Amino acid sequence: MSGIDADFVFFDLDDTLLDHRGAERAALTRLHAELPGAERHALDHFLETYRVVNADVWMAYGAGRITKRTARALRFERLFERLGIEGTDPVRLGETYLERYGGHWAWIDGAEEAYRATARRVPVGIITNGFAEVQRAKLARFPDLAERARVILISEEAGLMKPDPRLFDHAARLAGHPAHRLLYVGDSLHSDVEGALGAGWQAAWFGGDRSVAPSGALVIDDWRRFRDLLGS
Ligand SMILES: [Mg+2]
Repeated sequence: MSGIDADFVFFDLDDTLLDHRGAERAALTRLHAELPGAERHALDHFLETYRVVNADVWMAYGAGRITKRTARALRFERLFERLGIEGTDPVRLGETYLERYGGHWAWIDGAEEAYRATARRVPVGIITNGFAEVQRAKLARFPDLAERARVILISEEAGLMKPDPRLFDHAARLAGHPAHRLLYVGDSLHSDVEGALGAGWQAAWFGGDRSVAPSGALVIDDWRRFRDLLGS
């Protein structure tokens, strides 16, 4: 496989540079232990049910059908409905969840070093879907991210969500390079890889599945491999 040849590298944040899933799991594990009624359900079932309802709620939020405030509470309201949990306020639990979630943020293995190494070679940026204040809090927690990034785009602030090509077009204008000279690295096939390729960018699928990877996408199993391809 040939190396990476790009003039600007943009990164996704959640589950690419930062371990969102690990923090989500840790926060939900604690809620499962504390929430009256949750003990009737195995932890794995509780986690899986949350992921299913959260994905639906995110889709509705991304499509503009519900507000952020609604989305935060609705995912717990739906979880409670599915699991027959009563007597807990989903709005308050949504807030508690975000507090707990914030207590478990961490870099993905090797990501910090790879991000720094990339930034020493080419300008870097971040494009992330997510609630603006949550993503801003992550950037504040890991100052290296924002200090080294030339461009930071958060979907809620930009008014567009990945994979919308207009968000990638906007990022390309801010980067000041033509689309084909830009590389996007992310873990989501739909939002990141298809989004970037659809806007004419190069794409690297972090942790991706080679058997279903679109032609033209680079699949990266870990950050050491990325650094090898970057030649850093
Ligand atoms: Mg991601």
